[in-house]
Amino acid sequence: MFHFRSIRWRIAVTYTILISLFLIGLFLYFSTQVQANNLERLRAQLTTYVLLLSQDHELRNGLAQSRWQAGDDELVRLMAGWTTLLNARITLISADGSVLADSAAESLLMEDHSNRPEIIQALASGTGSSSRFSRTLGFEMLYVAAILTPAASGQWSVVSDITGYRSQAIGHWGGPVGILRVSVPLQDVTTTISPSPSSIFVAIVIVLLVSAASAVLLAERTARPIRRLTHTASRMAQGDLSTRLVPSSHDEVGQLTRAFNRMADQLEFQITSISRERERLTSVLNNLVDGVFILDNQGRVRLCNSVAARMVGISDQFAGNLMTNGAQVQGIPFALVVRDHRIVETWQMCQENRRQANRIFQWDNRTVQAIALPFVAGGIHGYIVLLQDLTELHRLERVRQDFVSNISHELRTPLASLRALTETLRDGAWDDPQAGPLFLDRVETEVDALSQMVQELLELSRIESGQVPFRFCAVPVSEIILTPVERLQPQAARGQIELIVDLPARLPWVQADAQRVHQVVTNLVHNALKFSPSGASVNISAGIAPAGRQMMVSITDTGIGIPAEDQSRIFERFYKTDRARSSGGTGLGLAIAKHIVQTHGGRIWVDSIEGKGSTFSFTLPVVTPE
Ligand code: ADP
Repeated sequence: MFHFRSIRWRIAVTYTILISLFLIGLFLYFSTQVQANNLERLRAQLTTYVLLLSQDHELRNGLAQSRWQAGDDELVRLMAGWTTLLNARITLISADGSVLADSAAESLLMEDHSNRPEIIQALASGTGSSSRFSRTLGFEMLYVAAILTPAASGQWSVVSDITGYRSQAIGHWGGPVGILRVSVPLQDVTTTISPSPSSIFVAIVIVLLVSAASAVLLAERTARPIRRLTHTASRMAQGDLSTRLVPSSHDEVGQLTRAFNRMADQLEFQITSISRERERLTSVLNNLVDGVFILDNQGRVRLCNSVAARMVGISDQFAGNLMTNGAQVQGIPFALVVRDHRIVETWQMCQENRRQANRIFQWDNRTVQAIALPFVAGGIHGYIVLLQDLTELHRLERVRQDFVSNISHELRTPLASLRALTETLRDGAWDDPQAGPLFLDRVETEVDALSQMVQELLELSRIESGQVPFRFCAVPVSEIILTPVERLQPQAARGQIELIVDLPARLPWVQADAQRVHQVVTNLVHNALKFSPSGASVNISAGIAPAGRQMMVSITDTGIGIPAEDQSRIFERFYKTDRARSSGGTGLGLAIAKHIVQTHGGRIWVDSIEGKGSTFSFTLPVVTPE
């Protein structure tokens, strides 16, 4: 929780150190100041004492008369009395510097004192003081000395300044007769005002604890909004763009929070509009029928639509540019994604010439055109590679070509026989009473066939163009099957083919134009009869289609069957299998049937095995209860 590098920790430690240093400095300053004051006060007090004592007549006179020797009993008694009174050490020194008496030591053993600073100072100005180490007593002492003059030779007065700390002896004398010195140990002064190290330690620890606690509180208050900002920023980085912070103050952190919120608003707006743009682009691309790849200047895929993904086999789950295995297509070199040298070469050609390049080729049974074009958008160069599936277009083209060749073929045969017949008639058959009418009958047959073909073609094109109105109504299935079957019964009988109708009871009705569906059934049954050998049977059945909601009608024969390669094409106009070429018919019947069924919303198809037979089936929508 208390991380070493956190702002909270740094503020707390710095703050605590600063407070501790400040307190120690303050303590040192005041203790020196108080010590100096106390020393000064003590010095003034001792000066007053020594000046008062130096007025003692007996002492002055005794010294003037040289009444006392060093260590004199009377003197020692006097000194001891004063010492008791003042609780201080008192020393009497003769004018030459020898110690006459001392209250704390044996005067005879004491050395010459004339060199002591307070003595030198007293001899010069009347009083003198000094604080130093006493060699006699072995500790720090404050000494104050005053000269003693003969009692009769001068007049003395003690002048103190208003503070009482400074005193002076003023007078006239004939020369000092001795010096009186009062001293106290300095230890008392320092010890009374200097606290013990342990109490300093305790004070420092208490101050440290208090300041550290307040520093932590302060740092916590400062760091908390920053932590919240950091947390919110990381949530935004993870994609939650809606998170915001409520500014809790009006200070710099509050301003930062407001600025952060504004930035988040802006970011959310921009990211939303960018993703909306991207979605729009993706949906446009995905709704295109062509495959589209957008490449960058180095040929790495930036975007591709679902058609392109399907075509190159990246799977349909392309949404979000994902490949089936989860890897992103985005940023992957184009050649690795498409894995076809013809497409890659088309793009490379465009890259080299900086011009559009295209190529048509067969790809997995499909006809594909690759078109690569360079583009510049926002100063960035890139390429668009389009993959167009031309298979259907090619098929339609082939159907058109086949149609032209088929119709020419269909017309050529009757026209050729008409020409032959008319030539034969002109060459003399006209006059032949037997052959003449025979040839005319054949001309009539050919013209009938031609006009039937033209009529079927016309009908087909009218159905295809939607010009034929369909009248849909609910019809029972039996009605749409039985009417054409009955009509074809004589033809079946002629070919000795049995027509079997297999209808389950209670079949739902279908929504259909009965006349048109009759046309479909007639055509399918007619074909079945045409391509079945005599003695065979044709089965007509109906039932609900497996997908439901659709009725399925099937016509099964055991005839010649249709080769597999023709099965997908027999519903085209004029298409006939080679084996059916001689059977007559226009080749338009199935094309018309297909259009009629499709207009009903149904489907028509064939299942056939060559040589075994065919089953043609179609579906029609059943009537829904509503
Ligand atoms: P046509 O008038 O030639 O019968 P259709 O369009 O009805 O024209 O049929 C097209 C071609 O489909 C026929 O020429 C024949 O080759 C083939 N076909 C249709 N029905 C059958 C069938 N029951 N058995 C075999 N081939 C068939």
